[in-house]
Amino acid sequence: MTKSILGYSKKALEEILSSLNQPKFRAKQIHQWIYSKFSADFSAMKNIPKKLIESLEENYSVNPFSLEHCLKASDGTEKFVLRCQDGKLIETVYIPSEKRRTVCISTQVGCPVNCVFCASGKAGLIRNLSAAEIAGQILFIANRYGKMPTNIVVMGMGEPLLNPHTIEGLKIVTSEEFFNLGARHVTVSTSGIVPGIKKLADEQIQWNLAVSIHAPSDELRRNIIPDKCRYPLTEIIDACKYYLQKTGRKITFEYTLVKGENDSYDNAVNLAKLAKTINAKINLIPLNSIEENSSTPTKSDLNKFVSTLQKNGALVTIRNSRGDEIAAACGQLKNQIENQQKSSVETAQKEN
Ligand code: SF4
Repeated sequence: MTKSILGYSKKALEEILSSLNQPKFRAKQIHQWIYSKFSADFSAMKNIPKKLIESLEENYSVNPFSLEHCLKASDGTEKFVLRCQDGKLIETVYIPSEKRRTVCISTQVGCPVNCVFCASGKAGLIRNLSAAEIAGQILFIANRYGKMPTNIVVMGMGEPLLNPHTIEGLKIVTSEEFFNLGARHVTVSTSGIVPGIKKLADEQIQWNLAVSIHAPSDELRRNIIPDKCRYPLTEIIDACKYYLQKTGRKITFEYTLVKGENDSYDNAVNLAKLAKTINAKINLIPLNSIEENSSTPTKSDLNKFVSTLQKNGALVTIRNSRGDEIAAACGQLKNQIENQQKSSVETAQKEN
């Protein structure tokens, strides 16, 4: 296995190069190839001598993935299953629109939180992604499309605030030395991990924070987010206040609307009240059901919920479900690919 040099400072690269008897200026060239021209392999770096490329390739790589599978929806949304160097699969989604090129990235293989409606949490946490693997998803997309995405949402597989490498990975995306994307174009979505929210706040970087509230009371939230990783709402609100105080960024409540579970009139009234305590926006996400749990709300359920929220003074947006036909809910496509691969291995074993 090689080590990705994504996120290596010029100084760190100079040290590697000097151990290979190479001049320091090569570090600047390599940085330009990666962070300005989005080269994902040393072999694409045209002004780097072939011999040096071969030496670097012995121990290092640029992008730590290979493409396993991709599917494109009619609305242009493209979902990628990427294979990490240890064989684990993750998902990255590219969501183009008229004004934006958004990428949804993963931070873990699997997820320890296991929200009831999510395919990613079904097998628990397999492992955290490294900082290079987090930032590598941006390089993968920038390399494929020839330009940087305009917006990053950290809403793919995994709970970002339970991965100690998330902050470092995001710094590769937003720091001037690397991809230099404006911090305000990055949104970190958490299921409400209180220590993680505080740690993110302490960075005092203008990343946006989205908290998956999913229910306006602890009692109801218990049915959606299992005990192990769930924090009480009062603690989450306090952590959000701390985030506001440290960064000044408006917080979003993500609310996955599940028919018959959290879509009552009272739920809407109480959600609006909760949002008001920190002046949060509410982003409603009609459930994109996975096979075992099909409780997608109808348009009329959704409209009723929105109207009650608005009558109670909440600022509401509805997230468009993009790329439904390509299994766009987090973890679905990766699970499908794994299941297909598993069944072809089983068939091959039976045939032998
Ligand atoms: S919704 Fe997010 S936090 Fe919940 S299980 Fe899925 S990936 Fe994890």
